[in-house]
Amino acid sequence: MKDYYKILEVSPKASEEEIKKQHKFLLHAWHPDKFPDPSDKVKATKKTREIIAAYEELNNRGAYDYDISTLSTSPSRAERADPADKRTVCANHSGRETGLSCNRCGKFICAECARKTPVGYSCPQCVREQRSKFETARWHDYLLAAGMSLLLSWFAGAVLVRMGWFVIFLAPTAGGIISELIRRAVGHRRGRYLSYAAVGGMLLAGIFNLSMLGLIYLALAASTLYARLRSMSI
Ligand SMILES: [Zn+2]
Ligand SMILES: [Zn+2]
Repeated sequence: MKDYYKILEVSPKASEEEIKKQHKFLLHAWHPDKFPDPSDKVKATKKTREIIAAYEELNNRGAYDYDISTLSTSPSRAERADPADKRTVCANHSGRETGLSCNRCGKFICAECARKTPVGYSCPQCVREQRSKFETARWHDYLLAAGMSLLLSWFAGAVLVRMGWFVIFLAPTAGGIISELIRRAVGHRRGRYLSYAAVGGMLLAGIFNLSMLGLIYLALAASTLYARLRSMSI
């Protein structure tokens, strides 16, 4: 029987978290794309498959430890598996061969399943998981963002247009301050559409200020607001 702990270079006492971390680290270190030489690439691909198989096996650790303790000679799941399963096929579409793997969980994914992220390709499941971790804004945060933006912008616009052409310098500052106030009001929670809600509120406030300077204020403040709040979303 293969020693999966040895393949992952962890102690049998390692926690689930440690094993997961080590699995990620090794996948990263052995990523076939890192090896330009074809024979190295083959080695790295083989190693990657071993790492993935070992991780899958240890993820189901209860069963593995049981096999060791009973000194059972029955082959483990990975060894029993049909060799065809060892081909690099998409985890979501069996039968589709692929060279791509998810940079988070390491499973193989076809070109259709791969989602481009700033750090490489991920599987749809990992992207969803990641997104829900970042999407922390509640429905009332959207209302709050739009409402605050409407009131603050209405006020700031009314004050700034009285200052004539200085509005060109002051409007971006006003947009920045409004974005910061909204950011604090929503408790730094994040949402993909928070910036749209805030800009929507600001544009609505623009109706009360339809002068030349009012529109200049609106354009400058809204673009600053949008840019600042964009960085809160993913
Ligand atoms: Zn994944
Ligand atoms: Zn697929």
